[in-house]
Amino acid sequence: MARRLGKGRLVIASHNAGKLREIAELVAPFGVDAVSAGDLGLPEPEETGTTFQANAELKALAAAEGAGLSALADDSGLVVPALDGAPGIHSARWAGPERDFARAMARVQEDLGESEDRSAHFVCALALAGPDGHRESFQGRVDGTLVWPPRGGRGFGYDPIFLPEGESLTFGEMEPARKHAMSHRARAFAGLVAACLVDS
Ligand code: IMP
Repeated sequence: MARRLGKGRLVIASHNAGKLREIAELVAPFGVDAVSAGDLGLPEPEETGTTFQANAELKALAAAEGAGLSALADDSGLVVPALDGAPGIHSARWAGPERDFARAMARVQEDLGESEDRSAHFVCALALAGPDGHRESFQGRVDGTLVWPPRGGRGFGYDPIFLPEGESLTFGEMEPARKHAMSHRARAFAGLVAACLVDS
């Protein structure tokens, strides 16, 4: 059985303000007060893992040890089986330092070429670490296919080329609330909430 997260402060091992706000809202009803690793002056460790889970765990552990508090981290990306899993853990890197996702999406399309297999999935790994090194990890996944050209200006990253299974709109065209209800991130969080958070 997973170790429950007690009430009190939880470090979010991300320097992304949008992610911090989303997570803070999610954990607040459980008496958990989210603070960002950035606000505590904690450095961002290098993501040297070879899986989403390994990277989420190393970020969570570094923050938990640095702050002496429990910490939560996530790692996510787009997995394309016909490209041997690429861009995968390198999803952000494919957009380059200028975060050019039009370029990253074009590279996916180019590398796929005439491939008949256009299936893809988004993965999100969440890791919760205690200052004693204890870890709990959760994964969420959403399956779909890749469209070309990109469709829609909503969302971020690879959303405009991702058509979730059973849907007619890409993540880039969809209402944000609809995407958030079915996303890989929502599914990983549902696992975390069920296993580690208790109602206050
Ligand atoms: P990180 O987990 O913040 O390192 O982000 C990984 C990268 O995966 C992001 O920069 C995006 O390129 C991609 N990614 C993760 N989740 C999504 C999503 O929901 N939509 C589109 N792209 C995503």
